[in-house]
Amino acid sequence: MLRVDLTRQKTRVSDLEPDLAAGFLPTRHYTSGVFEHAWEVSGERLAEEYNVKTRGCFACTIPCSRFYVVKDGKFAGLYGEGPEYEALGSFTARVGNSDLDVALKANDMCNRLGLDALTTAECISWAMELHERGMLKRSEADGLDLSWGNGEAILALIEKIARREGFGDVLADGSRAAAEKLGRGVELTMQVKGLDLIMADPRGLKGFGLGFAVASRGGDHLRSEPFIELSDDPRRGEELFGVPEATLRLAHRGKGKLVSYFEDWCAIIDALETCKNIMQNMEILTFERAAEVIEAATGMRMPASEVRRAGARIVNIERMFNVREGVRRRDDTLPRRFREETLPEGPSRGTVFEQEPMLDEYYAERGWDQRTGIPTRETLESLGLGYAADELRKIKASERN
Ligand code: SF4
Repeated sequence: MLRVDLTRQKTRVSDLEPDLAAGFLPTRHYTSGVFEHAWEVSGERLAEEYNVKTRGCFACTIPCSRFYVVKDGKFAGLYGEGPEYEALGSFTARVGNSDLDVALKANDMCNRLGLDALTTAECISWAMELHERGMLKRSEADGLDLSWGNGEAILALIEKIARREGFGDVLADGSRAAAEKLGRGVELTMQVKGLDLIMADPRGLKGFGLGFAVASRGGDHLRSEPFIELSDDPRRGEELFGVPEATLRLAHRGKGKLVSYFEDWCAIIDALETCKNIMQNMEILTFERAAEVIEAATGMRMPASEVRRAGARIVNIERMFNVREGVRRRDDTLPRRFREETLPEGPSRGTVFEQEPMLDEYYAERGWDQRTGIPTRETLESLGLGYAADELRKIKASERN
């Protein structure tokens, strides 16, 4: 467990406990959940050696961003905001890179070139895994040595992706599109519905994994983000869902309830255009508080239960949009590696992602058809979405033709 002395102004890397690792840090393209160089590239090291001040959105009392300066070395003089966990992990553990300066440079390049750091790193680490397995010739990658952690190749590829040059053009549309263009390696892409996954291995964080599988825009953590799972506190699961395992990160029972609850919550927070980091992750804007906020802002009185129903309506209408576009249960799936291969080491060792029972539970919780993953007419009508239910008839008719 995390043991950091918060009473100290600074925490030295050398003071941190080795068991801080929970074992779900995607390492070398999810072939492990433990990165042996984690401390060298940690946020704690950034805080100690690089950060000079905090930054934040206007008027925020919890400015969550950091501003760093690289003082020496090859990238001396580099400065900027961030990187937060996802970008930092993406250009370190995910690509097997232990050089913090390279990760800062990679993140800075993505920011300046308008690239998403997570997707860019997924494409690069996927190509590195193909290289490692002998599935990608050096000549196909513009002569670059794609060995894990090769900083020069990582930075060169970012530039090529942004400019769609050579192998960069193959990678420029995400990992699934890259595999389709290359004609191989699609089973090794770490994406759901074409959107590349974040820095959390679902075998060690199962509620997050279920959220990736069912999120309406693909492998997306921002549609549920059930952070409470990290507490590993069964009392919270019992209290909120009547299922102690729901808040244990390695258990799969109760995750249908957990994810649907957090999806409804995230939908409300997005609809109110408030900060998810504070309002949901810090558990400040509960459904009850959201009802008060809505009344203060609009004069509309809604009980907390009605606020949650509004969240469920958003989730269901998004699902119906996707259903109309052809999405079914078969699409709510994580990459095969998570379902069939166990994590080889660390505190999450030996686990797989138990997808089917979790989907069964989630669909039951949502009132969606178990076989197809389509919301039932009763569910849609109970949410006041009768017009979407009428769409079902057309969808079924078109499937018969
Ligand atoms: S993202 Fe949220 S917590 Fe961070 S600075 Fe902006 S408002 Fe504050």
